[in-house]
Amino acid sequence: MGLLDKHLGYRAPLDGIRAAGADPSSVRFDAVLSPTEGMLNGQKVILLGTNNYLGLTFDPACIEASAAAVRQWGTGTTGSRFANGTFAGHTALETSLAKFYGRKHAMVFTTGYQANLGGISGLVGRGDHLILDADSHASIYDAAKLSGAEVIRFRHNDPEDLAKRLRRMGDAAKGSLIVVEGIYSMIGDVAPLKEMVAVKKEAGAYLLVDEAHSMGVLGEKGRGLAEAAGVEADVDFIVGTFSKSLGAVGGFLVSDEDNFDLLRIVSRPYMFTASLPPAVIASTLTALERLETDKDLRVRLAANADRLYDGLRDMGYAVGPHASPITAVVMPDQATAVMMWNALLANGVYLNLAIPPATPENKSLLRSSVSAAHTPEQIDAVLDIFERLGLEYGLLQRPRRASA
Ligand code: PMP
Repeated sequence: MGLLDKHLGYRAPLDGIRAAGADPSSVRFDAVLSPTEGMLNGQKVILLGTNNYLGLTFDPACIEASAAAVRQWGTGTTGSRFANGTFAGHTALETSLAKFYGRKHAMVFTTGYQANLGGISGLVGRGDHLILDADSHASIYDAAKLSGAEVIRFRHNDPEDLAKRLRRMGDAAKGSLIVVEGIYSMIGDVAPLKEMVAVKKEAGAYLLVDEAHSMGVLGEKGRGLAEAAGVEADVDFIVGTFSKSLGAVGGFLVSDEDNFDLLRIVSRPYMFTASLPPAVIASTLTALERLETDKDLRVRLAANADRLYDGLRDMGYAVGPHASPITAVVMPDQATAVMMWNALLANGVYLNLAIPPATPENKSLLRSSVSAAHTPEQIDAVLDIFERLGLEYGLLQRPRRASA
């Protein structure tokens, strides 16, 4: 009898995946050659499962800023923001984020996960109500637990169900906090934010949008879904991350809410952890400037997203409801998903194997994410491999040309 016996329910599925020759949890890159190529088991692979949406991880200006900061400030802050962990860069980044979003306040956290954990648990607590989309990211569910607030879930992306649940709450709906995501991380679908804002206003609730996957992706200025949907004025809080379009690690919360500064002393995931190393802050600041000034990155990203999504859909694969930098191909079952993931890897394509319980509706998915840095030729090469393997494994009925 061991302490981990309680998790033995996961033993058989994990062993089954390993027996099939695939173990996504032990994928180890021996080298990363660029935002779109890496070396895995001695083989060059196209990276189609990172969240490197703008391809900035190897941006020369970001690398230079980071290298200069590590020389000037050292490798780490060795302390929490509240103690010795606030350097000039941390506040400069907060000022830049507040300006970028046109908000009064911004707070930087050590990860995006902690931004949700610390932001949400600082905003609501015991006696408050937290209204969550059923497909919310784990960081939002964990924030709910940490907060102690009462959680009410509504059907994924369903404003009518949200309205129904708020009506049922009566007076408690006023002042409750609704949390949704800009782009959902598994399927790549977008929240119907305009409709949700109308419901939120009617109920007198607050709204937080997690723009982790939509910052730098959606909106004329790249601020995310709230900007794209034209509802920024009615979104009370925005959470985001530096680990995706900005190519680093870290997270943030921005808002116009009064007494925002109190969050810095009540948010435990902000207070009781070391702050981001100066090198990370420096590359993030530079990447944010690039995001603001280089609209071409978003144009290229959108073109790549359309190319991959349209290609997979036209072949006959089951994909999400619309094109997005995240495209999930729904597999008929877990065994097929594992087999295809393996075969794609053997053919030089790395993407994410996403299986229950981490997926919506317990689907088995091959989740891909494109970058502005992918070339159209790379996307076409991926599509050719998907077609060949789909035909080989009976997932597709006929080749593209025959169906055209
Ligand atoms: N929110 C969402 C919607 C996410 O998908 C993720 C990470 N995948 C996070 C928050 C956490 O961000 P990070 O990985 O930067 O901690």
